Amino acid sequence: MLAEFFPSILELIVKTSTELPPDVRAAMKAASNIETPDTRASQALNIINVNIDQASDGEGAICQDTGMPTFEIHAPRGADQLWMADEIRLAVAEATRRGKLRPNSVDSITGKNSGNNLGPGTPVIHFNQWAKDDIEVKLLLKGGGCENCNAQYAVPVELAHLGRADRTLEGVRKCILHAVWQAQGKGCSPGAVGVCIGGDRASGYAHAKAQLFRTLDDVNPDATLAELEATIMATVNRLGIGTMGFEGRTTLIGCKVGAINRLPASFFVSVAYDCWAFRRLGVLLDAGTGAIKSWQYRDPSSPIVPMADQAGFQRTGREIVLTAPFAEADIRALRVGDVVLLNGRMFTGRDSVHAYLVKHDAPVDLRGSALYHCGPVAVKQGEGWKMNAAGPTTSIREEPYQADVIRKFGIRAIIGKGGMGAKTLEALKECGAVYFNAIGGAAQFYARCIERVDGVSLIDFGVPEALWHLHVKDFPVIVTMDSHGNSLHKDVEAESAKELAALKG
Ligand code: SF4
Repeated sequence: MLAEFFPSILELIVKTSTELPPDVRAAMKAASNIETPDTRASQALNIINVNIDQASDGEGAICQDTGMPTFEIHAPRGADQLWMADEIRLAVAEATRRGKLRPNSVDSITGKNSGNNLGPGTPVIHFNQWAKDDIEVKLLLKGGGCENCNAQYAVPVELAHLGRADRTLEGVRKCILHAVWQAQGKGCSPGAVGVCIGGDRASGYAHAKAQLFRTLDDVNPDATLAELEATIMATVNRLGIGTMGFEGRTTLIGCKVGAINRLPASFFVSVAYDCWAFRRLGVLLDAGTGAIKSWQYRDPSSPIVPMADQAGFQRTGREIVLTAPFAEADIRALRVGDVVLLNGRMFTGRDSVHAYLVKHDAPVDLRGSALYHCGPVAVKQGEGWKMNAAGPTTSIREEPYQADVIRKFGIRAIIGKGGMGAKTLEALKECGAVYFNAIGGAAQFYARCIERVDGVSLIDFGVPEALWHLHVKDFPVIVTMDSHGNSLHKDVEAESAKELAALKG
């Protein structure tokens, strides 16, 4: 068997999880360079850049959300695909054990996390045979926050603010713009989209995702599709959604479009949305040994140029420092746009915890506290735990529960990303609470703000879903929903809707 195959795949997984490819780094650098200084978006980009550097320097996960590991393999005739698939699964489990991937595979019936990223359908492994002698393995790690922003349109369709999208390239253009607008900051913008015109519902999404294996700076060999991509990129950033939906100059860093044939009765436009933490790498392996012959998307002989000009969070002097548990008056004094540095205790809670809390008592006293929508990468260290990655998850999933949880337990601060809806906004007003937006994907940055892990409750839910007791220092967040009924998310959505309408054509 191929003695080097397992270590090669393990290295591919670790590098993909920790090192953003050069084309994505270049696009994020360009976004940083054109952003207006001293804005919410520029501060968010600064944290993202620091996070990218921290991840590659310390070989830590760029984002705590490992996503769905998707392997695309080309193998020569005669290669043992069953053996390779087994080795890939073993390498995924090992990378998870080392804390490079978060245990992310959940039984859809029981809700139980397998703990090693293995299970039916996980990881995704696709084999293709080719006429070459080497084995090519490409890997994409795409998280849940951006996966939830995927969209599929059966055209003709009426689109909000854009009118009818017909079965034409103009209709496709409208669908792409609509998908980007609809995502707002929830998929950790600035993002990139892979698009498929045609196919059926399943092949359309698969082909859209396949476009994400193209580099952001390539040019589509099909002149018609190249023109469509260029048109989108020339106009889409007028939406002004910006980094994390904070308003800003860059909403999208790439648009890649493919087309496959369709049935006469169907015309699908499928959009796969990926976040700024666009993790994709590949290797070419020697088919005799499994050793890495060359890398794809990265050149290991080129030194990695740091993304951030200065280390750490750039203070402006306007930051407000608060320590939990919070007094109601301090929280009511906050307004949308305030930048706050949080200290003291903080509890994590996401989907399972929220569903639990509406029916049960809390295992800890949550009064006056901050509840952080976060599913960390936590590894056991002796008797305790260490947080290897701990950025925010998409908050809107908790909208059905959040208002009840705030009222029931007297929580003063919700921390997450992408904002929440009208029910939560009403509860913030009624109870004197606030929504803090942390910077999505900045998992290394926020892990370094955690001074210690004081404990964990509900660990049976699995590592990402447990209720972790954290103690944080100078944890930067931005108020995007306050206790006076203001919501930056609502405002940006309304403003960007006007821009979207202007792009109707
Ligand atoms: S950057 Fe955001 S959307 Fe992307 S994987 Fe991380 S949390 Fe999910």
